[in-house]
Amino acid sequence: MANGNKPLDRDYFKRKANPNAKKGPQLTTCCGVDRDRDVLNVNNSEDWKLIEQHIEEHLREYTKHASITPVSCKSCGKFLEYKTQIDIDKIQGYVEKSN
Ligand SMILES: [Zn+2]
Repeated sequence: MANGNKPLDRDYFKRKANPNAKKGPQLTTCCGVDRDRDVLNVNNSEDWKLIEQHIEEHLREYTKHASITPVSCKSCGKFLEYKTQIDIDKIQGYVEKSN
């Protein structure tokens, strides 16, 4: 029955909760994200607030970054990554000053 010396992973607990659960991570067909992973979703207003907050704080901290695109799955809305656009003018201004 109970057995130690074995790594208990997410699969273990998933199958414990539902013995019929499929083995291994179940990836979404649209964006290949593990369905069981708790991923932010841009269609969820609470999640969107967190994403906005993160971007606002980032822009405040990194003044040379012009904007940030929260890249998300167009089909299911799962958040995938942040893409940062860097303000070229500010970078060049910085380079000129240092010469
Ligand atoms: Zn998706």
